[in-house]
Amino acid sequence: MFELESFSASIGTAAALRDVTLTIREGDRLGIVGESGSGKTMLALSLMGMLPEAVQSSGTLRIDGHDMTHAIEQTWQVLRARRVAMIFQEPMSALNPLRRVGNTVMEPIMVHEKLNRDAAQRRALALFDEVGIPDPAARMRQFPHELSGGLRQRVLIALALACNPSLLIADEPTTALDANVALRITNLLVQLAQARGMALVFISHDLGAVARATREIIVMYGGDMVERGPTAKVLANPAHPYTKGLLDARPDHTRETRDCTGKRRRLPTIPGTVPQLLDMPGGCRFSGRCPVEMPHCTTTRPAMETNRPDRGAACHLCAGEVS
Ligand code: SF4
Repeated sequence: MFELESFSASIGTAAALRDVTLTIREGDRLGIVGESGSGKTMLALSLMGMLPEAVQSSGTLRIDGHDMTHAIEQTWQVLRARRVAMIFQEPMSALNPLRRVGNTVMEPIMVHEKLNRDAAQRRALALFDEVGIPDPAARMRQFPHELSGGLRQRVLIALALACNPSLLIADEPTTALDANVALRITNLLVQLAQARGMALVFISHDLGAVARATREIIVMYGGDMVERGPTAKVLANPAHPYTKGLLDARPDHTRETRDCTGKRRRLPTIPGTVPQLLDMPGGCRFSGRCPVEMPHCTTTRPAMETNRPDRGAACHLCAGEVS
C-alpha cells in the first residue's frame, strides 16, 4: 500500500506539490489529470523516490507502512522495479537507441532478480508475449528505431513489468500514438493490471483514456489536488470549476457545432495557462482563470470540501455540495 499524507514538494520557495493526501491499494486504478505544470509528473516521481535533488519534500510517504519520506537512494533502488515501476513519456527517448530491446528488458531481471542470462532471456520472451509483441524472439534482437511507436511502448511496458511491480505508473503512455494504437495500449494496461492484481496510476491529458482505464481520479492544478473521487462520478458530475473547464474543452462530436445564427461554435477553452511556480496567485491557485471567482478566492486557500469519504473538491463554492 502506498500512502501520501500532507505530502509537499518545493524548489526553494516555489511549492510544486502542496499537501497531497492519497492512498493506493493493491488493484486500484487511479487516474491523474491536469494541464502541463499541474504537478502530475512531480507526484509520480515522488512515488518513485525520484524527486530531483533540488526539491525539498515534507509530509509523509509510506510504502507498506514503512516511512519512506527520507529514505536513502539505496533503499529506493531495491523498491524500484520490484514494488513500483514507471513507464516514462516518449518511448523513443526512454529506450537506449544503441541497445537491442531484449537486452534492455533483460538487464533489470538479471540485476534485481539475480537470474542468469538464459533465465532472464526466457523471462523477457514471456514478457514480450504477455504485452502482445508479435514474434517476440525476433523483436528481442531489434533496436528501438526498428520498431513502430506502439511496439516501442509495449517494450517499455515489458521493461516496467520485468520485476513484477505491485504499482505501475504510466506517465502519458499514449502521447504521440495514433488513436487506434493509443486505445490498444490503454486496454493492455488495464488487462495487465487486472490479470496481475497490480495497482495502476494512469497520468494523462486524455480524459477519455482516463475514463476507460481508471476507477478513481485525481484532478491536479498548480501542484494542488483540486478534485478527487470515482472516475465515472467526477467526469459525469464535476464539482470543481477547473474540472468543468477541462471537460468543456474536450472535442465532442455530439455537441452542436453551429450556434443559432449558423456560425461555427469555437471549442470552449480555459483562459490563460497554468502560472509559473514562482508566480502562483495567493489563495486558490486557480484564481485568475476561474470563471466563477469570488473576492476572497485570492486571499483564502480553499480546503478539500467533502460530504462523502470518497469525493472532494477544493473550492469555496463546493462547501457541503460535493456528492
Ligand atoms: Fe474558482 Fe474560487 Fe473555487 Fe478557486 S475557490 S475554483 S477561484 S470559485
